[in-house]
Amino acid sequence: MRISLEQAIVRLKQGEVVAIPTETVYGLAADATNDSALKKIFEIKQRPADHPLIVHIGDINQAENWVTCFPETARKLVERYWPGPLTIVLPAKEHVSRVVRGGESTVALRVPNHPVTLALLQQSALSLAAPSANLFTQLSPTTVEHVEKGLGDVIPVLDGGACQVGIESTIVNVTASGQWQVLRPGVISEAEIAEVLNQLSPHQLKLGQNQKVQKVPATVGELAPRVPGQHALHYSPRTPLLLFKERDALIQCSKALTEAHLTYATLLIGEGLQPQGKVISLPNQPDKVAAQLYDALHRLDALKLDRLLVALPPAQAEWVAVNDRLSRAGTIEQVQA
Ligand code: AMP
Ligand code: MG
Repeated sequence: MRISLEQAIVRLKQGEVVAIPTETVYGLAADATNDSALKKIFEIKQRPADHPLIVHIGDINQAENWVTCFPETARKLVERYWPGPLTIVLPAKEHVSRVVRGGESTVALRVPNHPVTLALLQQSALSLAAPSANLFTQLSPTTVEHVEKGLGDVIPVLDGGACQVGIESTIVNVTASGQWQVLRPGVISEAEIAEVLNQLSPHQLKLGQNQKVQKVPATVGELAPRVPGQHALHYSPRTPLLLFKERDALIQCSKALTEAHLTYATLLIGEGLQPQGKVISLPNQPDKVAAQLYDALHRLDALKLDRLLVALPPAQAEWVAVNDRLSRAGTIEQVQA
């Protein structure tokens, strides 16, 4: 059910949930200070209660209402990236709802960069907790149609068009002493953050990087440290999804599926050999793939075939965020010797 900005404000103030656009993915929003409204998010999504929610605020100055400290590290990052696809996790003030914190002592904050939702935040004077507007572990929505398909027409949705960034925000934990760590990769990379801060993350230090090195080597599987709510199974279509590091292996698998009378469709990144059947090809550019990834997977999933085959991009720094989402959406096929 599509609603106007004014209707969204009324509903959110009444403690109801509304799906809202952001530049990353659509969020299922509720007043971040209203526990009964927050609990509706968990119920609708069927999300476990110990998975904290990101609080979306209307401008940088509101951050101080939520956190006990705002170290220089955090300040530099938000001045550089807000509004934008960066979430900062900081020690929470006592009054911050335990529901929104998922029982943690910290709270996650972000100023989203979407004109409709910035207007909503500013005109309502609310802060909005908003995880992705989909069922727990399912594909994230990047259009109103994805939200309606995933959650049904009963959920009120504020239409803001297709999300421009297309994957979830980069999450950075910052301690009171200013130490930082990427909890979830996104289009703002660890290398970029290190450059803004002029300080390597513990992850980069462990890899023995020097300051000049821009490419943080990363392989699928070792991408994300453990944090609450980051599951091995996440962002998944309903159709079983097989991931391939090599295009040849994907083609071989497609032939084997045909022989076994199983149907499939394929998602490819960049040029090269193509298997038979339905193929979606995305350009060989990380930002463009991020922007189109979920929509491509939604479209392939809607075909209701037996398998989806996906060619992984290379295990290089610029592909970390896309590789992270894909590795949680499916299973990597081992090449037969
Ligand atoms: P999403 O599921 O996209 O709404 O993102 C929420 C994710 O942010 C959670 O699953 C956690 O991984 C992370 N997060 C949110 N709040 C916190 C927190 N207080 N401490 C650590 N991680 C958090
Ligand atoms: Mg989500």
